[in-house]
Order: sequence, then C-alpha cells, then structure tokens
Amino acid sequence: MTAPYAGGCLCGQVRWRATAEPANVRVCHCRNCQRAVGGPFFARAMFLANDVEREGETLSWPTSERVDRFACARCGTPIFAGPKDPPARLAVSLATLDDPGAIAPEMHIWVSEKLGWLCIDDGLPQHAEGPR
Ligand SMILES: [Zn+2]
Repeated sequence: MTAPYAGGCLCGQVRWRATAEPANVRVCHCRNCQRAVGGPFFARAMFLANDVEREGETLSWPTSERVDRFACARCGTPIFAGPKDPPARLAVSLATLDDPGAIAPEMHIWVSEKLGWLCIDDGLPQHAEGPR
C-alpha cells in the first residue's frame, strides 16, 4: 500500500495516478459533498496537486467559494475536488481507485451533517466539523 496509486472513472476516459503519499485521507459527510457526489459521503485522499497526474476530459464547476469539483466529461463520475486556497491540492475519490482498498480513511469529518441512517462503527476519529 504505497505510492504510486492509480484509478479512473467508470467509463475509463479519465485516469489519474498519484506518485506520492496523500497529505490526509478523510471521509467528509458535509451536505456539499453529499450532493456533489450523489452519495452519503465523500471519501477522498488529499494529495499535493503536483503529485497527481491526470488524463482525460473533465467538467469542473465550483460547489463552494473554496472548492471546485471535477467529473468525467463522458460518464459523469465525480472524481476530483480541488480546494482553491494554497498550497495547490487535489482530493481524489477513494471509490475511483483501481485497487479499492489501497488507501484507507483516517478520520470522519463534518459528522454534524451526516445522514441520520448512516452508522459509523469503524473506530476512526469523528469530527463534528473540520479537524482542529
Ligand atoms: Zn468516464
């Protein structure tokens, strides 16, 4: 379970490869992420942007003042999220890993907005909002 990591969208048009370890790996339960990925949470690895190679066409749009989202232009898989504040980073969806277990989350964030029917019992730290 060491870099490089690789993955891609459902149709294969978008591919990514990370050449270094992520800065952090978190599951975000905020409403913004829920809607952006069309799922109950966004599990992502945050890399330095320079450590991620991307190929394929994506569509991007801002989902908040701080974050742009990127999806495959053909199949719509939500793959990346990019904070606009420096340093340049890129969040990559863990669900798009070729080896889905290659990177595991280290904490849950924004559980104050977690869907009520979702029970977390993995023992990882839970933060009501972002970690301090
Ligand atoms: Zn695709």
